[in-house]
Amino acid sequence: MVHAVVGANWGDEGKGKITDMLAEQADIVIRFQGGANAGHTIVNEYGKFALHTLPSGVFHQNIMNIIGNGVALDIPKVIDEIKSLTDRNVPAPKLMVSNRAQVVMPYHKDFDAFEEERLGKASFGSTKSGIAPFYSDKFAKIGFEVCELFDDDLLKSKIEKILPEKNCILTEFYHHDPLTVDGLMNTLHEYRDMIAPYVGDVSTYLYDAIKEGKEILLEGQLGTMKDPDHGIYPMVTSSSTLAGYGAVGAGIPPYEIKDIVAVSKAYSSSVGAGDFVSEILDEAKADELRRRGGDGGEYGATTGRPRRMGWYDCVASRYGVRLQGATEVAFTVLDVLGYLDEIPVCVAYEIDGKETKDFPVTPLLNKAKPVYKTLPGWKTDIRGIKKYEDLPENCRNYIEFIEKEIGCPIKYVSNGPSRDDIIVR
Ligand code: GDP
Repeated sequence: MVHAVVGANWGDEGKGKITDMLAEQADIVIRFQGGANAGHTIVNEYGKFALHTLPSGVFHQNIMNIIGNGVALDIPKVIDEIKSLTDRNVPAPKLMVSNRAQVVMPYHKDFDAFEEERLGKASFGSTKSGIAPFYSDKFAKIGFEVCELFDDDLLKSKIEKILPEKNCILTEFYHHDPLTVDGLMNTLHEYRDMIAPYVGDVSTYLYDAIKEGKEILLEGQLGTMKDPDHGIYPMVTSSSTLAGYGAVGAGIPPYEIKDIVAVSKAYSSSVGAGDFVSEILDEAKADELRRRGGDGGEYGATTGRPRRMGWYDCVASRYGVRLQGATEVAFTVLDVLGYLDEIPVCVAYEIDGKETKDFPVTPLLNKAKPVYKTLPGWKTDIRGIKKYEDLPENCRNYIEFIEKEIGCPIKYVSNGPSRDDIIVR
């Protein structure tokens, strides 16, 4: 059976932890989109890790971890990430990389950085991992598939075709040095040798695995609001963050995805630019939540940037959960709110004087003002609680209020960063 774990909001909802927990029952864990531009944080018996491209099953010896065709594959980063695990005594993971995945080229990262620099204040807040130039090239049909790394003639003729355009932009527009065919060939040979041991035919492998009744987990990066089609365009990422894309980005039939867990954090946070309706504008209050948030504060797992903080947004989450097609919600980082006397929850948006519970298109989002309902806090530390009934009443009320607003059962309540800090309802 195929399950998916995806983000209901802006990402950083604690998907890594939920995936790591669900991975315990999985035979296969798959990354199906995105690249090394975001990170999952996982805390387990080996310590605390930030994964960027590796699937969250890498800590389990019995799990096959797959990097699917939909991923932006940064080969040196993947190799470094494997090393960062083995250096800390995690056994070498079982890993398969799709022969149809495409490779993040060194110039993708350069173009990403040069463009952000050029845009200055109007930049997208990109992590400069090359993701947008990578996906642009993929869909412009000038990307490099992993399988192509093994065909020198093909590589060379492709590079010769692509370089004049890249070099024109590099030298004329960004005023940087041009690339050479030999230089790129050498880099791609290095990439080929690094990735060769892991390359496989993923969709065939998964076809067999599904037939054999294996437990398969699709692991999403970021969340609904960052989806290029359904998110807050253009402040989105460059590949689909929706569970539905899991079928495409892994190479399985869509009807095989039976169970979709949307992860939603008990408050909001967002990185990068873009409208964020329930943002906490009082900097002292935002900073307190940021410092207490997550496990060691709300700072980007990849960039270390302070995240923007907000109250829980039922409008965005209801939309986020619906677009994911969630069958259940994992509600995370609830323990962090234990210090608050009362907790505002955004229940509607006011746009041009009218209240709505439907998440708007981006030009209208810009005008949306939050409508808050304030719920009482529970003023206790709920870490360590294992049974739902043992949570304080106000805490259960908070969960049940939000469950009703978002219209999807909250099955998991996460009350701490570790794998076993979880309440299953
Ligand atoms: P992801 O990209 O969705 O995996 O999100 P992050 O990597 O940003 O994870 C959010 C942070 O919250 C990480 O530091 C996790 O260890 C931490 N975390 C996850 N679940 C919980 C929880 O229930 N309580 C607390 N306090 N921290 C959590």
